Amino acid sequence: MIIVLKPNAKPEQVETLRQQMQERGFIVQDIKGETTHMLGLAGDTSGLSPENFTRFDFVGSVIKVQEPYKLTGRRFHPEDSVVEVMGRKIGGGNFAVIAGPCSVESEEQILSIARDVAQAGAAFLRGGAFKPRSSPYSFQGLGLDGLELLKVARQKTGLPIVSEIMSSEYLEAFAKDVDVIQIGARNMQNFALLRDVGRLRRPVLLKRGLSSTIEELLMAAEYLMAGGSTQVILCERGIRTFETATRNTLDLSAVPVLKSKSHLPVIVDPSHGTGYWHLVEPMALAAVAGGADGLLIEVHNKPQQALCDGQQSVTPEFFRALMKKIEGVYAAVH
Ligand code: PEP
Ligand code: MN
Repeated sequence: MIIVLKPNAKPEQVETLRQQMQERGFIVQDIKGETTHMLGLAGDTSGLSPENFTRFDFVGSVIKVQEPYKLTGRRFHPEDSVVEVMGRKIGGGNFAVIAGPCSVESEEQILSIARDVAQAGAAFLRGGAFKPRSSPYSFQGLGLDGLELLKVARQKTGLPIVSEIMSSEYLEAFAKDVDVIQIGARNMQNFALLRDVGRLRRPVLLKRGLSSTIEELLMAAEYLMAGGSTQVILCERGIRTFETATRNTLDLSAVPVLKSKSHLPVIVDPSHGTGYWHLVEPMALAAVAGGADGLLIEVHNKPQQALCDGQQSVTPEFFRALMKKIEGVYAAVH
């Protein structure tokens, strides 16, 4: 629900209304334009009627928001959100590439890849320490030791680190050590985890679920924001379809659709989206042309020996050349 205030509304009147609504459990957000001031109410507004508010002489009108997502929607927040981490920005005209191996495997591996991707122009280093593997017998990640290695890589390169959390058990460690907390496709609808991570108020990278609709992705982001997150990045990483030629079907139309519905930055992961390293370049360039605010690309120094997702990982040399092409396409469309 959006409460449109009259231009002569007094700050004390607005404050009293805000407090009353907060006491009733609603999240109240200011929406300010050059000459307009509105209050957005998020929460279960089904018990509120416009007359609750229009009886105040400082309220002009009340708009009921139809979409089930409010904090993530553009109505409450018409301008693009910019997520900023250690001086690196994504969204609102800022483009950034997040790169690194699927899993942190050793100090030598992560430092070598971190240096290479930093030199090539990546803005963030990504590496999994806790891995959501389909088989319980596959490499599960180095766990907390992996986070320690990522911290060393951050210290050596200055790149902020992105890593996936799989359980609330590790909230404290992630809050302390990880710059952008990734919620993977398999946990996109783990609502308890979303709420817990939201409460940390840390930047979050939220990946689209394997079989989730765009609305479900936005509702998952709504959980994070209702919990307290303000810095959420959405990631299209491919969805399950009947097609078997690629690991997933990369839904590039999700980029303009998400950006029309939400103010949050949208990035694309062509590595998981296709499953093959040679498809990463064309899909990365297509994503940039389609308006993505960034990319997530898996890079490995020895893809053939990678403990996870080697077939879709590009080498550092390939990545460096790809970054040049990305810059070219970005410049051509902006
Ligand atoms: C990953 O980013 O390495 C990963 C497991 O991705 P997703 O959750 O998209 O499958
Ligand atoms: Mn991976």
